[in-house]
Amino acid sequence: MPAGASAEVVIVGAGVAGLCELHHLRARGFSVVLVDRSPDLGGTWYWNRYPGCRFDSESYTYGYRFSPDLLHDWSWQERFAPQPETLGYLNHVASRFDLRPDIVFDFDVTGASWDEASCRWTLTAADGREVTGRYLVTCMGILSSPTLPRLPGIDSFAGQSFHTYYWPHEPVEYAGKRVGVVGTGATGVQLIQTIARDVAELAVFQRRPNWTAPLGNGPISAAEMDGIKARYDEIFAACDRSPGGFVHDPDRRGFWNVPREERVRFWEELYQQPGFAIWLGNFREIFTDAAANAELSEFMAAKIRQRIHDPDLADRMIPADHGFGVQRLPLETGYYEAYNRDNVHLVDLRDTPIEKVTPAGIATTDQHYDLDIIVYATGFDAVTGAFDRVGITGTGGATLRDLWKDGPQTYLGLFVHGFPNLIAVGGPQGGGSGSVNFPRAIEQQTDWAADLLEHMRKTGLRRFEATPEAQAEWFAHVVEMNQLMLLRNARSWFTGYNSNVPGHDNGAPRYLLYNGGAYKYRTTLRQVAESGYAAMELS
Ligand code: NAP
Repeated sequence: MPAGASAEVVIVGAGVAGLCELHHLRARGFSVVLVDRSPDLGGTWYWNRYPGCRFDSESYTYGYRFSPDLLHDWSWQERFAPQPETLGYLNHVASRFDLRPDIVFDFDVTGASWDEASCRWTLTAADGREVTGRYLVTCMGILSSPTLPRLPGIDSFAGQSFHTYYWPHEPVEYAGKRVGVVGTGATGVQLIQTIARDVAELAVFQRRPNWTAPLGNGPISAAEMDGIKARYDEIFAACDRSPGGFVHDPDRRGFWNVPREERVRFWEELYQQPGFAIWLGNFREIFTDAAANAELSEFMAAKIRQRIHDPDLADRMIPADHGFGVQRLPLETGYYEAYNRDNVHLVDLRDTPIEKVTPAGIATTDQHYDLDIIVYATGFDAVTGAFDRVGITGTGGATLRDLWKDGPQTYLGLFVHGFPNLIAVGGPQGGGSGSVNFPRAIEQQTDWAADLLEHMRKTGLRRFEATPEAQAEWFAHVVEMNQLMLLRNARSWFTGYNSNVPGHDNGAPRYLLYNGGAYKYRTTLRQVAESGYAAMELS
């Protein structure tokens, strides 16, 4: 990239959202530069290479729908594709639409500053390179800032250790080794069930158990894929109707209108179905009504007890501090059965916390675990982490990092007052920030953002900014939607909790998600555009 490069629009992030935005803007004739700190494209799917990494979304609902030809070309191989297949898909998209010429890799953005006089953003990379643009669109990912535990001695370990996000690109020889995994979220679950049979010893350091449900993966035959291709309109229409953009639609009969025996029969069916059926295809009350949620949680607890031979161990794997589905649900394949193996050991950190990492392994208050490899599946500084890392400076020198110290506030999850001409795709409190089928959520945001910039061009305008009133109103709506949900009480990334990040570890709510559902969000975006973006200052 030439020194001082400039474009009408600068996009940050070459993942699922950034590639989509690049396509939409180029299709409307904008000059665009997309920068990414990674050596290649793919975002989440470039980095997460741990064994077992795969979708929890049905593969055929994950592709872009902006091109019928693209939908026709690509055949998913598995119902829930593994990471290499998804990365292959994104590379296929980039080749098919010739996206690479507008992408600059290894551009690690460390700062982005707004200049009022020139009405432009300047982005600076760690190596000093700069790029400027009239508009800045961030597509930095909601789970792209991995966090490590704050453990004494963490750097002293003599074996191999890494966060799952940074799983090495060269093969990791874990077969026959003593491996420790810290963390049992969606990532830990996928990793543990995948490596259990190959490693010599597996110590799972679990602080709090998670609820999980069966994934139900399997191959997609050529004939099935032909059928899916013929039904894409129907499939995407189903995604559009659901709150999270998945094929699973909630049951609207009403939990208490259905007799208990019928509820249990229904849950048995859902438990056998693939994907998030038991979570997102369930009665809506499981998300809002504590008694309904408790009954389902007891059903799921019984499933865990059936699958783990040792009853004491089973009890340790059943969450006691939160009900089913109020945190992001990991999906599993033989996860509980892994704990029936002699070489897999659960270390319950509630009884015996980790004291330190040593050169030879991990010491708890109870004993020392000798390890060859330690894997930290300890999650992310979710949604706002990427914004904090970059350091984005708006009007009057205010940084987003400072402004969002106690939690973010946005307008539509896309705009922030004081940060003109910035669009945060997948930003906090927007339709792309939660437990959503990510491509379905960001396709509306990216398309809508491109329409806004087109509107600016057509009307000869060059500056937009959310008004403080619009932002305050949206924030109040976000809080109101959150308060309806049982998830408001759970300590997980859904509520902005992260024990490893100072300031995010005190349990004070940080509103990261929009819980109003995809339909309401889509309708709002449409109305805002139809109003001529009335709640924004355009000049
Ligand atoms: P996560 O859900 O935040 O889980 C992190 C795990 O690490 C938790 O078990 C947590 O325990 C534990 N942990 C964190 N700090 C710790 C510490 N200091 N000491 C001991 N344990 C610690 O992170 P994740 O599993 O990476 O998943 C994040 C999100 O990524 C998921 O919710 C999902 O949205 C996405 N994801 C998706 C897929 C997929 O689509 N298939 C796969 C993987 C991830 P506590 O619960 O006690 O905090």
